[in-house]
Amino acid sequence: MNEPGTAPAGGGPLVDSHCHLQVLAEREGGAGVARALELAAVAGVTQVICPGLNLEDSDRCREIAEAHAGVFFTVGWHPHERAAPDRAELEALEELLGHPRAVGVGEVGLDQYWRPGYHETSLEVQQAALHQMLELASAHALPAVIHDRESHPEVLAAVDAVAGVRGVMHSFTGDARHAERCRERGFLLSFSGIVTFPRSEAIQEAVRRVDGDGYLVETDTPFLAPVPHRGRPNSPAYVVATAAAVARLRGVAPGVVAAQTTASARRLFGLPPEDVLHG
Ligand SMILES: [Zn+2]
Ligand SMILES: [Zn+2]
Repeated sequence: MNEPGTAPAGGGPLVDSHCHLQVLAEREGGAGVARALELAAVAGVTQVICPGLNLEDSDRCREIAEAHAGVFFTVGWHPHERAAPDRAELEALEELLGHPRAVGVGEVGLDQYWRPGYHETSLEVQQAALHQMLELASAHALPAVIHDRESHPEVLAAVDAVAGVRGVMHSFTGDARHAERCRERGFLLSFSGIVTFPRSEAIQEAVRRVDGDGYLVETDTPFLAPVPHRGRPNSPAYVVATAAAVARLRGVAPGVVAAQTTASARRLFGLPPEDVLHG
């Protein structure tokens, strides 16, 4: 149980606010998920949010959340989906949102990064899907989990177009000024392993400046493993390394980051504090 970097850092309980356990399940089976959650519990992670990427994927997240205490899920439609949800799909997404372990709408968002084979979805289609999903979030008074890759102004415009939307910018990649714009709109920033990478200076400045109630931490498992795990598949236990990096950047003890991010995650997603991972 003493894999490097996963020992309790003395920081207190942490919530991994964005962890694709369903992708881990696809690669490593249910036993892989159970082991990852066990290691996470040992490392001090108490709760995990598993975000869905489309209807079937969100339903896989539901299954995993039903199987494990401390795991919750969100119902999403990722910007890489080739079309916006049709009426039947929207109704099914909405039905899934009624599940007692469904705690938000996401991931949803905009992605204008381009390289061959990454995705082929036009901005127009992405914007239509995002708008529908933000309306769903607003109608159910649930937080939105937003994926924003090279789309900062377009994401803010989408948020401004739907009244009453709140939520989190997952794997935040903006600078301090963009962070302020998100905070003005009541959005939290969720910091991923990217904050531990060299050449993330602008994001690190946002980490230093955001208010204590304004941020979460996440792994985005199995992607974006933080230093010193970089190059390996990510795992929820590694959120400890990201939280430690955030504490160093903010010049505070790890316990401060653990307390702030856990309180904020529980508030945003309405997580019951007693429903936690079993070690
Ligand atoms: Zn994402
Ligand atoms: Zn994700």
